[in-house]
Amino acid sequence: MIAACLCPHCTCCSWVRTDPPLRTSGIITMSWMSGTQAGMQGLLNVTADSLAEYCGLTGDHQANSVFLESQLGLLQRNPSQSVINSEFCAKYLPALVDAYDAQDAAFNIPMRMLNAVAYLPYFARFLLTTAKTSICKTQAHRMATASSAPADPVHIVEMCQFLSTLLALQGTNSVSEEDKQALLPKLREWNRKYQKQQITRCLKQLEDDPETTILAGGLKQHCESSLNECGFDGCGKSGTSKLLQCSRCKTAVYCDRDHQKKSWPSHKATCFPAVF
Ligand SMILES: [Zn+2]
Ligand SMILES: [Zn+2]
Ligand SMILES: [Zn+2]
Repeated sequence: MIAACLCPHCTCCSWVRTDPPLRTSGIITMSWMSGTQAGMQGLLNVTADSLAEYCGLTGDHQANSVFLESQLGLLQRNPSQSVINSEFCAKYLPALVDAYDAQDAAFNIPMRMLNAVAYLPYFARFLLTTAKTSICKTQAHRMATASSAPADPVHIVEMCQFLSTLLALQGTNSVSEEDKQALLPKLREWNRKYQKQQITRCLKQLEDDPETTILAGGLKQHCESSLNECGFDGCGKSGTSKLLQCSRCKTAVYCDRDHQKKSWPSHKATCFPAVF
């Protein structure tokens, strides 16, 4: 039997199942799963590799939005969230961006995963050094030209949150004037209808609201700080030219070997060999 997804955060996805999923505070109860005990443990055990599998980047390359959604929900309550997301980025970010580029819709599985890791220095470095085109331009264009919005307001908020982060990191100038004019009325309508700060912030960024522009600049600086500021707590030396880069993750820099050594105990948790 094929039925639509009934999880409260989603009205767009569908998958094969026999019983309706029951969901309490963001965690899917497992009674509806016809899988084995191992399968259930697999869903509860969020790792960089499991996220990649449910994004459709590995395994049978079939994305699973229900599993990804429940793992992202679990991850938000996981104290190791940044560690798992960092490992994911180091291993899979280029593949995830390729999967994102191959989409047409404004809201999609790679977009949700990108939104979850967009605050990390790995993502900031990817945008600065590896991104072939502006992801911000792409996301804005998809949202501007979409004939309909996602049915679920939660998805609209998530989409706006992602665009807002991209606008901060890549600048509002990366959005074409045509897309901007098409997007503004949509954002104003969603803002009226749902009154969520993620939508308001996105709208104000596109309107070049001075106060919001300053806040966005702060976010960009924060996201990129580990790329251009000595990672030793309290050092504060900056400027990309004379700083040593961590050769493993390439997302941390230090003014000298001593500060790099002293920072290692705290840095090592999120330092993973980056494939880009
Ligand atoms: Zn769903
Ligand atoms: Zn230093
Ligand atoms: Zn490192």
